[in-house]
Order: sequence, then structure tokens, then C-alpha cells
Amino acid sequence: MPKLTIAIDGPAGSGKSSVARHVAALLGYLYLDSGAMYRALALKALRHGISPDDENKLGSLAKETHIELRAPTPEHEQVGAKNCVFLDGVDVTKEIRTPEVAQAASRLATIARVRELLVAEQQRAGAGGGVVMEGRDIGTVVFPDAELKIFLDASPEERAERRWKEHQEKGERLTLPEVFDEVIERDKRDRERKVSPLVRAADAVLVDNTAMGIEETARLIVMLAKERERELAKAGRA
Ligand code: C5P
Repeated sequence: MPKLTIAIDGPAGSGKSSVARHVAALLGYLYLDSGAMYRALALKALRHGISPDDENKLGSLAKETHIELRAPTPEHEQVGAKNCVFLDGVDVTKEIRTPEVAQAASRLATIARVRELLVAEQQRAGAGGGVVMEGRDIGTVVFPDAELKIFLDASPEERAERRWKEHQEKGERLTLPEVFDEVIERDKRDRERKVSPLVRAADAVLVDNTAMGIEETARLIVMLAKERERELAKAGRA
């Protein structure tokens, strides 16, 4: 069977990472979390005291930064990490999962130069197919020719609650209204930015998983993927 490129886009808390990782495992594909790259750069900017809105400094920072995604170690999997993230050779998998880093990531993600560099890196990492990549612009910009595109969504209340539960599990004391505000603010910025806004690609399948679990959502996407694989095989693309 031919190996597909699967693009999964959607807002914060739509279950993209868990679903995409599950889909990749079921299909024997590589899983790549593009958001982790924006977060890693945001972490470096925060550590260097660079404002996440400073276009010039962030353009240079992105150029001199090496970000690598690797399969998670069992230790990382235990705390829910789906990719290990290395920033200039140092493991920052845990450090990038804070609301502060998430907010900074969504601010620097509005900068064209930053996106240009990270998108090129994502295209290199996913070249060759047999990959499930998730983010905000995978089906529209990173892999516009992906054979299967999914736009994953859920109600804002459900998405905030999922994120809140993740924070609870890590022992972080954020309230549900705080998490709701963080998710809504980030969504608004992601949807309204000029460069590569979060938008459903015209040929993406919309999956609303407000009332669906991770496994059920993943199984649905795997079914769609297998159908696409068969179609492509039939069309002679072995
Ligand atoms: O997916 P995650 O929540 O880790 O992404 C963090 C931020 O990175 C998002 O809010 C978004 O602003 C940005 N991002 C993006 N394009 C992607 C992935 C993430 O702009 N492909």
C-alpha cells in the first residue's frame, strides 16, 4: 500500500496530539508535532529575554536555533509526551508544556520569517510520506498536497476542560476559567493572524470530536486513511 501524508489541523485542545499519535501508531507512521517546534523557539526566546513580538530578533533566533523532534522515551510517554523535543541538542520536552510558553509560541507564530524557517524544517522532517503531522497550517501550507487532511474541532468548553485536566494531572493549580481564557485567547490569535491563519483547508474532512474519545476519533481517521490508501493503490500509485 502507498504511504500517505496525513495533515491534522485544529484549535488548542481539539485532541490533535493524542489523536495524531494514536493514528500514527495504528498505521505504523511517523508522528510529528509541529506546535512543539513553535513552543521550543518560544522557550528559547523567553530564556533570552526576547519579546515574542520582536520580529527582527526572533527571525535571527529562529535561524540560529536547531529544533529536533524525536520519538518519545518510555519515561516521557508516562507523562503524556508524544514527541521528545530537543532545543539545540537539549531535551526540553517538559519545559515547553506551560501556559506561558504556549502564549509566547502563539505570539511568535504570527511572524512570517519565523514561520518560513519552521515550515521548511517541518517539510524536511515529513518528506517521504508515511507521516502524521499536526498543527494549524499543515493542510494549507506545510503539506498542501497531503493525501488526507483532517480538521479536528470540539466545543470551546470541551477543549478548555481537556487542557485543564492535563494541567491537573501534572499537579498544576490553574482554574478552569483561567485555562478557558488562555485557550480562547490563543485560538483568536491563531485564527486572526495574517500569515497562515488557522483555517480549515477546502479539502479537509471536518471531524467534531466534542462527544468522541481519542480512540474513537483515531479509529475514524484510520478508516479514512485506509480508504485513501486503497484509492491510491487502485489508481496505480504503488
Ligand atoms: O499545538 P500547540 O498548542 O502545541 O501549538 C502552540 C502554538 O504554536 C499554537 O497556539 C500556534 O500559535 C502555534 N502553531 C502554529 N502552527 C502550527 C503549530 C502550532 O502557528 N503548525
